[in-house]
Amino acid sequence: MANDNVQNLILNLENLKISITAEQIFAFSQYSSLLRTWNTRMNLTSKRALENIHSVHFLDSLTALPSLNALGLENPRILDVGTGAGFPGVPLKIMAPEMQLTLLEATRKKTDFLRELTNKLEIQQVEIMNGRAEIAAHDLEMRATFDVVLARALGSLSAVLELSLPFCKINGHIIAFKKGPISDLQPEIDEASEAIEVLGGEFFRVAHIPLDIFNDDRLLIILKKVAETPSKFPRRPGRPARTPIGRVGRTRT
Ligand code: SAH
Repeated sequence: MANDNVQNLILNLENLKISITAEQIFAFSQYSSLLRTWNTRMNLTSKRALENIHSVHFLDSLTALPSLNALGLENPRILDVGTGAGFPGVPLKIMAPEMQLTLLEATRKKTDFLRELTNKLEIQQVEIMNGRAEIAAHDLEMRATFDVVLARALGSLSAVLELSLPFCKINGHIIAFKKGPISDLQPEIDEASEAIEVLGGEFFRVAHIPLDIFNDDRLLIILKKVAETPSKFPRRPGRPARTPIGRVGRTRT
């Protein structure tokens, strides 16, 4: 991706009607250097993504900010499931510090990175949890307690919904990041309709991201939780990804 630099990040954010302060720009530069340092020791992100960090991770994460703001929530409780090196949760938190953010990640070394990152950036009101969504979602302190659940690059839409909707309050929302040609995404969206119904969700809207810098389509699939998720979901670890609800064939519990 050409011209991956902070000026371009600022310009692209302007196109999304997002303004950024000098402190926020500084936070992103600290984020990028810490990621670079850690990436020499462990694979937090690909080399190519690291070279294009401003667009591949920062800008892409921030494409959800207008949709998040449009929900009009005050001090929302937000969960990022399978956050990896903090995407999209940490960039969103840098831009909207009033949110109460929980970062959930299964890999211990990634949560170690997140602890150092959030300390270095002096991020307040952030909780880092090492664990799997299939287990954490049955914890009564977590289940049905979030206003918004975010998921990026976590798997097929159906699996993502099983890992995220149980955490959401009724009337709360899920924002799932998807990329690729819309023609490829449509079957995935169709396949997820059974999961949406079974898990207590409803389509809210699909936001198309209007930025030329990405050479594929970017969508945010936004759902609303309208009914309680049956207590058997999510199923045991690995099951949501291996046999997604609605996949042709049998959905095993
Ligand atoms: N959201 C990040 C990372 C995507 S990779 C990004 O957009 O860059 C998916 C991440 O989710 C990995 O770090 C993986 O360890 C984590 N993950 C996968 N399944 C999980 C689960 N069931 N519970 C918690 N974390 C999970």
